[in-house]
Amino acid sequence: MSDPHELVVLNPATEEVVATVPAASEEDVAAAVVRATRAQPGWAALAPADRARLLRRFADTVDAHLEELAQLEVREAGHTVGNARWEAGNARDLLLYAAGGAERLLGKQIPVPGGWNVTFQEPLGVVGVIAPWNFPMPIAAWGSFPALAAGNAVVLKPAETTPLTALRLAELALQAGLPEHVFQVLPGHGHTAGRALVDHPDVAKIVFTGSTRTGREVMERCARLVKPVTLELGGKSPNIVFADADLTTALDPFSFLDNSGQDCCARTRILVQETVLEEAREFLADALAAVVVGDPADEKTQMGPLISRQQLDRVRSYVPEDAPALRGSAPDGPGFWFPPTVLTGERPDGRAAREEIFGPVAVLLPFTDEQDAVRLANDTPYGLSGSLWTRDLGRALRVSQAVRAGNLSVNSHSSVRYWTPFGGFKQSGLGRELGPDALTAFTETKNVFISNVSPSTEGPAQ
Ligand code: NAD
Repeated sequence: MSDPHELVVLNPATEEVVATVPAASEEDVAAAVVRATRAQPGWAALAPADRARLLRRFADTVDAHLEELAQLEVREAGHTVGNARWEAGNARDLLLYAAGGAERLLGKQIPVPGGWNVTFQEPLGVVGVIAPWNFPMPIAAWGSFPALAAGNAVVLKPAETTPLTALRLAELALQAGLPEHVFQVLPGHGHTAGRALVDHPDVAKIVFTGSTRTGREVMERCARLVKPVTLELGGKSPNIVFADADLTTALDPFSFLDNSGQDCCARTRILVQETVLEEAREFLADALAAVVVGDPADEKTQMGPLISRQQLDRVRSYVPEDAPALRGSAPDGPGFWFPPTVLTGERPDGRAAREEIFGPVAVLLPFTDEQDAVRLANDTPYGLSGSLWTRDLGRALRVSQAVRAGNLSVNSHSSVRYWTPFGGFKQSGLGRELGPDALTAFTETKNVFISNVSPSTEGPAQ
């Protein structure tokens, strides 16, 4: 039986223990919020240029430890080392971007009859960030760094399985000179530490990234306190491939295999125009067979393990052994391995076609024409991401307008650039992270009217 007071971090590629970390209790969260509440006004009172300077120093410190952070991510999350380096670099780059934002967080002056209205973007206070395990470093960064730049203090709860890089980031923040308690990381369980953060009356906003099921609960609990919440939730994104597309790039299997498919933006519904379905099937069969699955620390590896035994069991439940499928290969245990898989006999209303599996599994579904492609693409409760592939510009425009999702790519599979907004439609979330408005999301707008009527020289009215 596991100890509720500690978190055992396993290497998903070997099942060896990497570290054991104390799990924060409700009291620990309350104490962290008190410390954050005391530290925040001093942080907010710094001149924006001084806050920016400290954040840039934090970025330099992350940069100096980039390889160490990447290797830690490989060990605790099983990410391929190439991906892990990108993730650490993303955290560093976002710090630099947010630092610039601190210097440009401006209000407005609005002339009105009798004077001016002047608006101020004031920090919220203490922000709670709850992160999942699939991209521990970037998601910790997306929620925390713009909030810090806007003058808030942050209490971050990483996922149970992946607390180590976040803890290291907090150490690096102190090393860079950020004031104590402005950026605190509290590993812990969702139902204790996570809930305590959500329910705490002095936490002014929650940024939650995780499953739609938990996100719904977080939103309900925030509603009781009328607490603003940003939700970054699940996805079941389409990859719409028209017959005129270059199939070899459109059907890149890493559109759904990146991070072993544990990617909220994974294009796990491969929608292919029926006239090229056979060609697509043949291409995918070869592509899956060629994927190098194995030790994530090896530079040649393209796909690592799943995060945990629980996740492996979940993925297996969607892929019966006799299911019609194209399959690559995966190592035997130890470790949580599942082969790259495309299910070919699934119906659009089947479980694997509708639910987020969060593993290296996609479904292949044919469509007839543009209208049918849009109908299928939108036939999901999710709306996070998606790709569409065609040489017809008019069609690319029509389809990208018609698909209900927050982040679409035309003739590309990329989803995330930290200087552009990111977030989901429908049950994929609420609010946006990143992009030019990232800092504003961590402020309240105060509107002050300044009268142009001179006060009476005789002093205030009695
Ligand atoms: P999860 O919902 O199980 O957990 C996410 C976090 O919430 C963890 O830190 C967990 O401890 C905490 N938590 C759990 N119960 C809680 C509660 N009752 N109150 C407060 N906190 C609680 O999700 P997961 O399995 O860790 O992550 C995978 C999910 O995250 C997938 O659905 C994926 O699509 C989603 N995700 C979305 C995005 C996005 O940007 N939209 C990005 C990455 C992952």
